Amino acid sequence: MKSVIIDKTIDKVNDECGVFGFYRNNDDLDIVSITQDALYGLQHRGQTSAGMTIINDGLPSSVKDLGIVSSVFTDKSLSTLPQGKISVGHVRYTSSEYLDRAATQPLVMSCREGVMALANNGAITNFCEIRNNLEKDGAIFQSNSHAEIISYTIASEIINSKAIEEAVLKAMDKLKGAYSIVLGTRDKLIGARDPHGFRPLCIGKLKDSYVITSESCVLDSIGATFIRDVEPGEVVVVDKNSICSYSCSKKKRTSLCLFEFVYVARPDSVIDNVTVHLARRKAGEILYKEHPVEADIVCGVPDSGLIAAQGFSTASGIPFMTAFIKNKYIGRTYKGVNDKKSRRLLKTRLNVLKTAVKGKRVVIIDDSIVRGSTSAHIVKLMRDAGAKEVHMRICSPPIVYPCYFGIDFPDKSHMISNNLSLNELKEQINADSLGFISIDGLHKTAEECNIGLCDGCFSGHYQADEPKKIYVDKFANKIKEF
Ligand code: SF4
Repeated sequence: MKSVIIDKTIDKVNDECGVFGFYRNNDDLDIVSITQDALYGLQHRGQTSAGMTIINDGLPSSVKDLGIVSSVFTDKSLSTLPQGKISVGHVRYTSSEYLDRAATQPLVMSCREGVMALANNGAITNFCEIRNNLEKDGAIFQSNSHAEIISYTIASEIINSKAIEEAVLKAMDKLKGAYSIVLGTRDKLIGARDPHGFRPLCIGKLKDSYVITSESCVLDSIGATFIRDVEPGEVVVVDKNSICSYSCSKKKRTSLCLFEFVYVARPDSVIDNVTVHLARRKAGEILYKEHPVEADIVCGVPDSGLIAAQGFSTASGIPFMTAFIKNKYIGRTYKGVNDKKSRRLLKTRLNVLKTAVKGKRVVIIDDSIVRGSTSAHIVKLMRDAGAKEVHMRICSPPIVYPCYFGIDFPDKSHMISNNLSLNELKEQINADSLGFISIDGLHKTAEECNIGLCDGCFSGHYQADEPKKIYVDKFANKIKEF
């Protein structure tokens, strides 16, 4: 039996970013508190840095730093912010080995239009070409962030545009890849989603004020009403008189990331007509149909495996049981700590309820297997707690190709499904059986979606161009794929 040394680096998929923008038309609304609450609602999308910029009479004031929302936004730091007309907020995950403080967002720039505060979720695939061209013209960059490239591209179009929204539309003709941006100016709040629609973006209303944000769960948390999703290729502009919509000239095959439903988004969000909670339940039901098993209990790995486990239970009649207890005070990602410490944190993060599993045949539902180290650890925990049999069922197909559009997977050679067959992987993680949902099955979980879906990391077929050039991160002295 072939076996590989499992890469012990923490192998959960790392998230990306969350964006938020608010245009205040009601003086009684506290724009700083609303933005803070909204960013708490987006915290699951990024825990490396958090930031907000308030624009008041054209002047920006920002609070942003490395850390989670609760550590960056203290009473003291927020007391420095005015009650302005427009806010832009951001939470970020970074794949950079070093924690790049200069890349914390919102990115605030001054250009011919005046102030611009920009927050982005996604990855620009022609980053190298755009950056090289800008550098040739003398541009100086503070960081390697894609938000900076987007800001520069918009700023360079302003000179030939009648209004900022025209500059954004022209920039969209140049930018390739995935982006959902929120942009605040002196008097406008703008939201733009790339023509493929890789990342979510939606519009909401709170009294007479407007919200543009990554996920609809945020609207609930600040008491706003969902209006609709921003369409792929659409630019939405809010000012004091109106809310307007424009379409960029590029029409592309739409390609919303399927991984949003598996892992990234919160279950209480609705994205392009799909309720994330229902998609996860369906994944569990389909998993049972595709990989039935006889067992005494089914349980989910917190958090994203829990709902799918309930679906598996409904479809199979096997009772759902809470078996894993998660330490909520250890974060989801472990950036900034070394591998030894991150392995220690993984061990203390999950515990198994022995009374629930001892002597039982247990089905465990998890969202994904990337490097394989977490699955091996989970199966070991379950066996140590006395389970008689351990059957793993996974809500995503094997991940075997890179993502160029904003999700941080490891190099292909570190993806365990590229190195082992299904049976070999089952042996490697020491499970009695192992089953992944099929690509068709995963599509069925989001069949109500009103745009196309991306399954590139599972199938190798992307609806958008892959990056042509390699980006060399000069600061970190490390080669990345883009
Ligand atoms: S390649 Fe995978 S993770 Fe990346 S956008 Fe497509 S489905 Fe999402």
